Amino acid sequence: MLDKNADGYSQEDLLKQERIKKVARRKKKIEEVDANVPPDIKPFVTQARDKGASSWLNALPIEELDFQLNKEEFRDALRLRYNLKLENLPSMCPCGSSFTVSHALSCKKGGYIHERHDSVKDTLISAEYAMMLSLNLI
Ligand SMILES: [Zn+2]
Repeated sequence: MLDKNADGYSQEDLLKQERIKKVARRKKKIEEVDANVPPDIKPFVTQARDKGASSWLNALPIEELDFQLNKEEFRDALRLRYNLKLENLPSMCPCGSSFTVSHALSCKKGGYIHERHDSVKDTLISAEYAMMLSLNLI
């Protein structure tokens, strides 16, 4: 039997009400932040809020899993996360457009689309090879 306070609420009821209030306060705070974020920054803020978006910051630098970043890669990752300009980028893309990070990620002549594709392909091949080895299929 649950104990109830003078208002008729159990400890569980009070905790549930507190959780609801906490979620409402957080939602209100997010709306206040979003209202003051410049439109060009908003997608970065939204993305940084996604579940797991900060996991890479807590990942152990395990070399066998290729989880380590050198100093420059780590600095670049932080700059990308906070939408800061990267250092030492070329001013022009091979296609003739000015070189920006978003352009580099979408330009078919810049090479990054192929690099990304090949990176995913190589990862899948490595995973398949490891699985076949573990099953003694090769
Ligand atoms: Zn280009």
